[in-house]
Amino acid sequence: MNDNIPLSARAHAQPHRKAVLIALLWITMAAGAVFATLNLRAGNLPLAVVEIAMASYSLFLMWAVRRTRHLDRWLLAYSLPFFSAMMFALYVPRSTVSVFGWILLVPILSHLLHGRKLGLAISLFFTGIGAVIFLFRFHDSPLYMEPIPLLNMGILTLCVLTFSHVYEVSRERSENKLLRLARTDFLTGLANRVMFEEMFEKEKHRAQRELTPLSLILLDLDFFKSVNDRYGHEMGDRVLVHVARLIRKRLRLSDLACRFGGEEFAIILPDTHIRQAMAVAEQLRATVADHPLVDEDTTIKQTMSLGVAEIGPDGSTLEDLLAQADERLYMAKGKGRNQVVGPLWIDTETADA
Ligand code: GH3
Ligand code: MG
Ligand code: MG
Repeated sequence: MNDNIPLSARAHAQPHRKAVLIALLWITMAAGAVFATLNLRAGNLPLAVVEIAMASYSLFLMWAVRRTRHLDRWLLAYSLPFFSAMMFALYVPRSTVSVFGWILLVPILSHLLHGRKLGLAISLFFTGIGAVIFLFRFHDSPLYMEPIPLLNMGILTLCVLTFSHVYEVSRERSENKLLRLARTDFLTGLANRVMFEEMFEKEKHRAQRELTPLSLILLDLDFFKSVNDRYGHEMGDRVLVHVARLIRKRLRLSDLACRFGGEEFAIILPDTHIRQAMAVAEQLRATVADHPLVDEDTTIKQTMSLGVAEIGPDGSTLEDLLAQADERLYMAKGKGRNQVVGPLWIDTETADA
């Protein structure tokens, strides 16, 4: 597996969290309206006011959440006031003890909305406050200050908190694993094309923002079909893994190598001008050519042809760069393979130096 592959689990969790939030906003609006009416009838004005405020605020959030690019902030903008209003409802002397049942929602909702870390912190904070309010309100009530009711409520809350947290930890772990698999080439462990395209866009924006160069190398193994034909497909696979390992060893941590398809690889080189990229390509070429795969009594020599392009002079999109690098790669093939070709204005000797 490629440990350098960054995960965007947070970004991927956003649609789920948005869906949960929108469902909650509908419920908060409906429940706020119903409870506000009931509390107004019962003469419990402060609670009714809080409920009307929460319902109106939910209506506003419904509008804001559909438009935002910063969902995290709006999730907090919902949960913190919502849990605070809940604490207020627990505190108001006229509310009944049944209101404390709502505390069980805190761990579930905070994990659904904020994930395992922030979810746990928010759960502990508000359930802690809920416990303090309970003790404050009922410390002189013999009915509740008995071990059995106290243990019932305490253990129940702790169970819900633990289950929510354990579930979220394991859900996030599975999600990360799936995301990693979806972005990795299963044979070589390099990034796959999905990851490559994502990273290119990210690096391109960084390069434009910081006015730094960005280069791309496209490489294709020479006469690879004959390796399969001569040694079998399985041995061909082992050559691919061997070459991928050599490429990875030669690159910096900030570079990203990807298996582009069959026996074709592509590399993004952030902060790298074309001349430096050609020097890297030349090193890769020499490394692969000088390190055949040795398997018991079989030695398989492999070479590759490489095309190099740079963002700016060769275009600004991935398609532009790939088209240029591909053209140069096939020039390298035409010139006899096992070589690097860059833009016409650079002669390879300069890059080698
Ligand atoms: P050239 O120097 O012109 O690139 O010649 P080539 O033989 O490398 O090119 P060609 O496109 O004719 O053949 C590529 C071969 O790569 C054909 C295909 O069987 C093989 N190949 C593609 N993917 C895999 C793979 O995952 N495993 C193995 N073992 N072979 C693969
Ligand atoms: Mg080939
Ligand atoms: Mg090919």
